[in-house]
Amino acid sequence: MNILAQDIKYLQGVGPQRATLLANELGITTVGDLLSYYPYKYIDRSRIYRISEIDGNMPYVQVCGQIFSFESVGEGRSKRLIAHFADGTGSIDLVWFQGIKYALKNYDCRKSYIVFGKPSVFNGKIQIAHPEIEIAPDQLKSQARTTGNLFEEQQINSNLNDSELDTLPTAFKGLCPSYNTSEKMKKSGLTSSSMAKLTANMFKLLKQHPLPETLPPYIIAQHHLMSFNEAVRNIHYPSSPEALRHAQLRLKFEELFYIQLNILRYVKDRQLRYRGIVFSTIGKNFNDFFYNHLPFELTNAQKRVIKEIRTDMKSGRQMNRLLQGDVGSGKTLVALMVALIAIDNGHQACIMAPTEILAEQHLNTLRQFLGNLPIRVELLTGTVKGKKRTAVLEGLVTGDIHILVGTHAVIEDNVLFNKLGLVVIDEQHRFGVAQRAKLWMKNSVPPHVLVMTATPIPRTLAMTLYGDLDVSIIDELPPGRKPIRTVHMFDAHRPRIYELMNLELSLGRQIYIVFPLIKETEKMDMKDLEAGFEEISKAFPNYKVGKVHGKMKPADKDAEMQRFANHETHILVSTTVIEVGVNVPNASVMIIENAERFGLSQLHQLRGRVGRGADQSYCVLVTKYEIGETTRKRVQVMVDTTDGFEIAEQDLKLRGPGDLEGTQQSGMAFDLKIANLARDGQILTIARDAAQSVISSDPEESNPQNDVLWRRLRELRKSNINWGAIS
Ligand code: ADP
Ligand code: MG
Repeated sequence: MNILAQDIKYLQGVGPQRATLLANELGITTVGDLLSYYPYKYIDRSRIYRISEIDGNMPYVQVCGQIFSFESVGEGRSKRLIAHFADGTGSIDLVWFQGIKYALKNYDCRKSYIVFGKPSVFNGKIQIAHPEIEIAPDQLKSQARTTGNLFEEQQINSNLNDSELDTLPTAFKGLCPSYNTSEKMKKSGLTSSSMAKLTANMFKLLKQHPLPETLPPYIIAQHHLMSFNEAVRNIHYPSSPEALRHAQLRLKFEELFYIQLNILRYVKDRQLRYRGIVFSTIGKNFNDFFYNHLPFELTNAQKRVIKEIRTDMKSGRQMNRLLQGDVGSGKTLVALMVALIAIDNGHQACIMAPTEILAEQHLNTLRQFLGNLPIRVELLTGTVKGKKRTAVLEGLVTGDIHILVGTHAVIEDNVLFNKLGLVVIDEQHRFGVAQRAKLWMKNSVPPHVLVMTATPIPRTLAMTLYGDLDVSIIDELPPGRKPIRTVHMFDAHRPRIYELMNLELSLGRQIYIVFPLIKETEKMDMKDLEAGFEEISKAFPNYKVGKVHGKMKPADKDAEMQRFANHETHILVSTTVIEVGVNVPNASVMIIENAERFGLSQLHQLRGRVGRGADQSYCVLVTKYEIGETTRKRVQVMVDTTDGFEIAEQDLKLRGPGDLEGTQQSGMAFDLKIANLARDGQILTIARDAAQSVISSDPEESNPQNDVLWRRLRELRKSNINWGAIS
């Protein structure tokens, strides 16, 4: 029987009640779950301090000495027990507010104890409240008073055998694990130190059941990794800081390696299973457009990515490519030109956008670009109904429609194509993997897929979240754009903000003002927006002010957006509904209220709504005066750079990948137990290379050395929902 699959209930110290708590609060149901519930930090208990060394600002410390007397102080709620504790170099107070009876019963005067806790100062005296106390072992009794440093004692300990080690008090064990626990757990007494007792019991159990190695020996040797058994033991109970580092490296490598192996194997399977439609020619429409209709010279970056896409589409393999390009870098045009390649090769193209406004905007842009070319572009969204809808559906089946632009509506089952050859998904972070896969089923041979995003994703995140996609990058903006000037202002600067607005309005420019609306139902936020709208209308009586938010009917919203686009309104007060894609080149000022409430990539998207014409544009980030350190840093990043990739990297550093927009919706939000995508980029690269070399050197999966890998991968896929989602 696999010891890791054993119910946690039967582990010494658990029982049915705690088992329920562990399952509900931490999702721990088996011994294996507990094994991979790693400590979040370690407390150094290898050192015993002299009391004379201690001050009230130190983190956790341990001291060794004796209790000289007990004293009961205070009445009612301030009642407490004080033990006067000394070690020959000084004295401190140990204090209990609860558990007074227990302390009096269990601790004696004139006995030597090791005391562990966080020192603080009260009435000029150093104290430790609710200390952890253990009886000092004999070797320590004299030692503790003469030496402060116990590293020499550690050396002695390492000569002890395992069973002797087990009986030693925690104080001798060096780095001690701290485990995250929930409020509910703490209330039931399942604290970090009781978790430590459970993991200690687990290792006693595991001593009789050595765990099988989870990586082949050749990979362990090649990367100088610690064995699995050693690593899991040292991650919970490090024998030294050095050993802890090795254990962390091994477990991070393993975690990232299996994610990459999963992705790369899926990519290989996909290539074997599906052949791609071959688009062999560059035809008449593409050439006609390129030579006669293109209103401007393509940027070099645009040319390069069109070539990369074209190479994919004639390779005989199904394309799955991610096109990253900052806001305003001209992705729409790229989408159109590759759609023309599909059309010239007898196929249809479908372009998906996340919102109705964007879909309509794409439709108009494409029609404008195409002019009188014989290409039929139609729109399909939730609001296209009745006869219009029937006509579109018919046109798709007959093949009369060459390009379909739409929202989610296009993936509905009753939308059938004649010959769908290319799917372009714009602003992909709103589409999950499952939705992408659904599009493939719309043709007997799956269409080529191009995913476009203006939310730059840091390399490490892309390798995990979109590791199954090839990547093209537009790293160049069309010429003649002036970088947007970004400033940070406080609420109190309102008059200066109005000054800037007046100036730009008098030059004929337009202005966006954005209010946060995290959930479109939050009443408070709605009030902010309404109040802001009133205030602006009053402050700018000579200009027309419009208002949009997500709770409006789509038709009203679109009408309001259209009025702004037509320059019928001058100032648009809105929520983040304008975040993606909207294109009004005459708008030159973006004011973001309560900027502290937006994520960095969201701020970047919003800022990208201006600076789309030739004029100097401005972005004003408004916050209240008191903001935290992280917020200040985030705002500063926006002021300092307009480079979306730089911003994404900083975002990852400041917030951690779990919070990054897009990771939730992607359907592949990996729940990393130990690796950190912001910090472990180097390990990730090595792990991906190692996984790639397994796939390429053993394509048939027949090398017995790799058996352990495939077995482990199957296990992981079974236990991790997100891993299953990839296929
Ligand atoms: P995004 O990549 O954010 O989707 P768009 O495709 O909306 O960017 O392009 C932004 C603007 O730049 C559009 O007005 C588009 O017509 C224009 N544009 C695209 N490519 C070029 C180019 N090579 N030269 C000049 N302007 C361009
Ligand atoms: Mg776009």
